[in-house]
Amino acid sequence: MLRLRPLVAAALVASGMLAPRADAAPEVVASIKPIHSLIAGVMEGVREPDLIVAGGASPHLYALKPLDARRLERADIVFWIGPIFEGFLEKPLAALAGKAEIVELDRAPGVALLPAREGGAWEEDEHHHAASALEQDGHLFLDPENAKAIVRIAAARLAALDRANAARYAANASALERRLDALDAALRQRLAAVGGVRFVVFHDAYQYFERRYGLAAIGSITVTPESQPGARRLQAIRDKIRTLGARCVFREPQFEPRLVDVVISGTAARTGVLDPEGALLARGPELYFNLMNGLADGLMRCLG
Ligand SMILES: [Zn+2]
Repeated sequence: MLRLRPLVAAALVASGMLAPRADAAPEVVASIKPIHSLIAGVMEGVREPDLIVAGGASPHLYALKPLDARRLERADIVFWIGPIFEGFLEKPLAALAGKAEIVELDRAPGVALLPAREGGAWEEDEHHHAASALEQDGHLFLDPENAKAIVRIAAARLAALDRANAARYAANASALERRLDALDAALRQRLAAVGGVRFVVFHDAYQYFERRYGLAAIGSITVTPESQPGARRLQAIRDKIRTLGARCVFREPQFEPRLVDVVISGTAARTGVLDPEGALLARGPELYFNLMNGLADGLMRCLG
């Protein structure tokens, strides 16, 4: 939304061209649930940010809806990971240029990126790889250090846009950073028990989490949920489960369990569930913590 001089704004309000705002806080839009959760934590007590990929939708299969487009039109500031993750936002955000501030978190200071995995059971076996070949892995929110960097940048950008609430954003952000440190320490302690235990995941979402907590994922059924794995890939995963002795294959709540049943047939592997993008979780400041603890719960239940 345009920043108008007070007199001009008052005149527009008087003439009915501009509806008076309920409060002065900025209109904030976040792309996906985990990012929305961190921004909502920074904004707690001010207002709730809008969320694009809500409910049980997968960010990997999302198509922008008319309501989303209206939300973006109204926004003062939009937080997203970047084209490496929410490809569906690339064009709509480019069209917004100049109307809203756009914060691409994969370029934010303090956010560490990992290269997209390649080779062996992390490689696409089909030919339609090229179109979405990406060099960086966008699931950067699954590392609490990156979450802290996101919190810091959100607090700084919101404070610059909304001086009146700057102290609130700063206080919320430091409280959130302390909670994220505590979460990280607790996860490290819990997950140490399953450090070397091998497992297979549904899609390649967990690299940041695995690295941080020393977990031993050996492959994914599909690289991205956009493409169905072929028979050859499923066979290769099944062979790998047998030869490497994977204890568990994790499905995800949005995707049908059939593929998991196929790869575990004839192996000793069990099945578990992981929800890396919070499809089953209620939005809000607690989601991020529920998401990370939920991953640890799912891993411990099946691997422990
Ligand atoms: Zn994903």
